[in-house]
Amino acid sequence: MVLSQEPTTTVVTRSRYNYQLSEIIRQRAWVEIDQSALAHNVKQLRALLSKDTELMAVVKADAYGHGAIKVAQTALQYGASRLAIATLGEGIELREAGIIAPIVVLGAVNNPEEIAALCQWDLEPTICTFQQAITFSKTLAQIEQSLSVHIKLDTGMSRLGTLWQQATEFVTLVHQLPYLKIASIYSHLATADELDQTVMKMQQQRFEDAIQQVKAMGISIPCLHLANSAAVLSDRSLHYDLVRVGLAMYGLYPAPHLKSTIDLKPVLQVKAKITQVKIIPAGTGVSYGYQYITQRETKIAVVSIGYADGVPRNLSNRLKVLLKGQYVPQIGAITMDQIMLDVTNLPDVEVGDIVTLIGQDGKHSISADDWAKTLGTISWEILCSFKHRLPRISTSKY
Ligand SMILES: *Cc1c(COP(=O)(O)O)cnc(C)c1O
Repeated sequence: MVLSQEPTTTVVTRSRYNYQLSEIIRQRAWVEIDQSALAHNVKQLRALLSKDTELMAVVKADAYGHGAIKVAQTALQYGASRLAIATLGEGIELREAGIIAPIVVLGAVNNPEEIAALCQWDLEPTICTFQQAITFSKTLAQIEQSLSVHIKLDTGMSRLGTLWQQATEFVTLVHQLPYLKIASIYSHLATADELDQTVMKMQQQRFEDAIQQVKAMGISIPCLHLANSAAVLSDRSLHYDLVRVGLAMYGLYPAPHLKSTIDLKPVLQVKAKITQVKIIPAGTGVSYGYQYITQRETKIAVVSIGYADGVPRNLSNRLKVLLKGQYVPQIGAITMDQIMLDVTNLPDVEVGDIVTLIGQDGKHSISADDWAKTLGTISWEILCSFKHRLPRISTSKY
């Protein structure tokens, strides 16, 4: 790929992709989004599902930091038929971009202004409580609009939804209320990524029992769904009519034991440039608080990315990056906008060289899972942590 220093935006057409490649934003630090890896993952997931099971691309939180609009477009192009987001604003962003696929709001929406906005933007809410259902119906009556809604049952996550034991009463109410059309009934799993499937099976049983009782009332339900990424990869009996996939689409496995299922490619890379190189003597402190003191004469490279970009400060002195295909240690405290590397062992390090914080460089790679492991968190949180200060650049490798 040719890097241009020109402050111009080039529109590049490559096979089936149309993407904007704005080289000027590769100046400091950025996130690269490989749309072809995303397409690959969507196709892999699609191939795992029966043809009657829909794939819903979960693009909440700006598609886990990958850029919701482009991710939604690519996912829809390669086999997803619906989208899910968490907030009203996230849904409006997709509609404003011209996306017309059905969009479900997974988060709770409660007040009349928000309900009117759902109608205006053709977004489908999740109905979690009796009270919420009544508020919706009243508000919709006033504005004379009806809405497709998704009923949420709590089968053991203890987050949103009405408890499964009250499913019949709850679904009957929503069914009877004017202006509400039931588009689906769903629930969410708490432990699908664990090896021990006891809780997951219990939740599935509760879901099935609840649905059985609803059906016995003579209410027909067009769509049932329960599975997140982990459930999709672990058990076909959890697929039902639709699956809600986030993490796997972005190329990460929800748990190590699920790696043998399908081939996923990481979509996101984080890169930054070296802005200064210098040699400092042995015994010199590096960065705030002198958490690192050089043991020997040390060649330092300063890199223009920091915790304000989403590199967790807790990785200070524990972060490794890739430079010229080699692992290089980061030293001293991570600062707001910059980090320092020990590049003593690397010849020819220059200002302008590109450092890979997450991603592949030559034979080696660093994943969001690596960061998550060091920090004692999960890859979902790492992906979501990159700030909007980092421009998202679409690429296509395959
Ligand atoms: C975020 C979310 C998902 C996607 O979960 P992944 O583990 O990323 O696949 C599915 N369903 C609900 C209700 C969610 O909130």
